Order: sequence, then structure tokens, then C-alpha cells
Amino acid sequence: MAQTVGFVPTMGALHDGHLSLVKKSLAENDLTVVSIFVNPAQFAPHEDLTSYPRTLPKDIEILENTRSPGAGSCETRYPAAVFAPTANEMYPSGIVLEIAEQKGAFVEVKGFSHQMEGQTRPTFFRGVATVVTKLFNVIQPTNAYFGQKDIQQALILKRLVTDLLMSHPTPQNLHIVPTGRDLTDGLALSSRNLYLSPAGRKVAPTLRQALLAAEIAWNGGATKHETLVRAITVMDAAIRRAHREGLTAGIKLDYIEMNDTKTFEVLDAQARKTEGSTVILSGAFYVDKTAAHRQYSAG
Ligand code: AMP
Repeated sequence: MAQTVGFVPTMGALHDGHLSLVKKSLAENDLTVVSIFVNPAQFAPHEDLTSYPRTLPKDIEILENTRSPGAGSCETRYPAAVFAPTANEMYPSGIVLEIAEQKGAFVEVKGFSHQMEGQTRPTFFRGVATVVTKLFNVIQPTNAYFGQKDIQQALILKRLVTDLLMSHPTPQNLHIVPTGRDLTDGLALSSRNLYLSPAGRKVAPTLRQALLAAEIAWNGGATKHETLVRAITVMDAAIRRAHREGLTAGIKLDYIEMNDTKTFEVLDAQARKTEGSTVILSGAFYVDKTAAHRQYSAG
């Protein structure tokens, strides 16, 4: 019988959030491939491509020590391969960050890449869609695993494989895995958390607290407007508390919004939860200079 291949694309600087994807893939597939590639095409010229953490030897060591039992078997599985290509291998026509100067093939998921995170990062999802298409072509996975932390990315990629009629993976085999968090304060694990100052690290879970309060309000019947007011009130209070405690991390709200899961359209201010519906409640803010994201679907 043909072996199944699970695939986990990453940019490295691996943490337990990445490893939850890897373990799910190990459990569900005969073979698991993890890619580690800091993709230039998803960075705008002013973003952190050169300073993005690169820890390949440590990442490989971590993966060598990551194992999981196969579902329904007593076999212990380890990742079968790490794919860590160079930029030249991934972009044979070359790659520059200025879109106007780029040459070669790029992939765009039109109509879904300008909302939410795409507002401040208008070319980000084009870079992600392009690299993931290339990676899927190389690995030809049966199943692929993405984090709910980046819910817009995962849903765009589902649309990508649907619209391009891809078979490896099929849309049904592109899986979204719950966000791995710091067990003490709930901050979503992220490679960019390495950038945070001690003060920034303390303040960063604020967004999660705000969105959790908003989720409770929404599930309790609040309108979208009331839900977002709740989130912003909680955030403001947490930021004021941090300042009183002398934490000097620079904080700037990027956005908090509620969007339709299928179209990504912004919900009407008076919209309320309806039975069985799912919406995206998401937000981002800058701490120090790092974007701390918490994105999730509220049932
Ligand atoms: P990155 O290396 O940040 O590009 O992330 C690679 C994959 O890991 C993406 O699918 C992310 O959504 C996922 N990921 C990153 N952080 C987490 C986390 N804390 N929990 C679950 N998945 C994550």
C-alpha cells in the first residue's frame, strides 16, 4: 500500500507550537517531512528578513528528538526528512523584495489577502501562497498541517488548493491545528517572541486576554460593536496597568476585527452570533517592534 506523507512547512526557530503540528503529522502519516525556509517573498522591504531568527542546527536536533506514536499502531515515529532549501533553489528566477522588480512566477489568492493581517502587510499572503505552492510541488504531501494562530493564512491556503485543483494535498487534507501557547500566561508561541524585551514579553499576552473577553461577550449575545468595545476596554485596562507597573514596552494596536470565515468580509456592526455559525475574531498589536498576533475562530 502507498505510504502517506505528512508535511509541515515552517520558517524554523522551532518551538512547541511547531512541534504540535509535527506530532499530529507523525501520528497521522507513515512519513513526515518538515521544511525550514525563511521565505524572502513574504517579507516587505521594511520588514525583518535579515534579522529573522535562523537556528537550523538546533532545529534539526529538536526534530531528531521529536517523536509520536502512529495513530492505531504501537510504532514510534520520527520525522523522516527535513527540507531546508536555499533561496536560489526555491526562486530559480531570483528573488527581490520590491514587488515591482520581481521576475518569474508568483501565486496570488485574489480577494482574500487584503483584510485583517493583509491590511498592514498587503503583499504577505502572495509570498506565502507562492512558497507553499512550490513546497507542495516538491513534497507532494498527502496531508499538510498549518497553525490556527495564523488562521487567515490557513484559510487562504485552503482556498489556494481548492482553486488550483491541487491533489497533493487535497483541500480536505489541509489541516488546521490549534494554537500552542505558553502554559503560564497563554501567549501564543511564536519564533518572533524571541525579539521581545522582558517588559514586552510581560505585556504581550494582553491581546489574548482582550480577545478571550470579546469571545465571551460574542457567545453571550453581544453585537459585533459591543464585542469589539469589550476587547478594546480590556486591552486599554491591561496597558494602563502595565504602565503603572513601570513596564515601558512600546505598544501600538494594529487592528481588532471580526470577519466572515468564508468571505473575510468585515461583519456588520450590529451582527450577532447565529446558531451554528463561525466567525473570525482576530487582532494584532505591536509590542516593542514585534507584532503579537492572536487569531482564532469564535464558535
Ligand atoms: P512559521 O515558522 O512561523 O512560519 O510557522 C510555521 C507553521 O507553524 C504555520 O502553519 C504556523 O501557523 C504554525 N505555528 C506557528 N506558531 C504556532 C503555534 N503557537 N501553535 C500552532 N501552530 C503554530
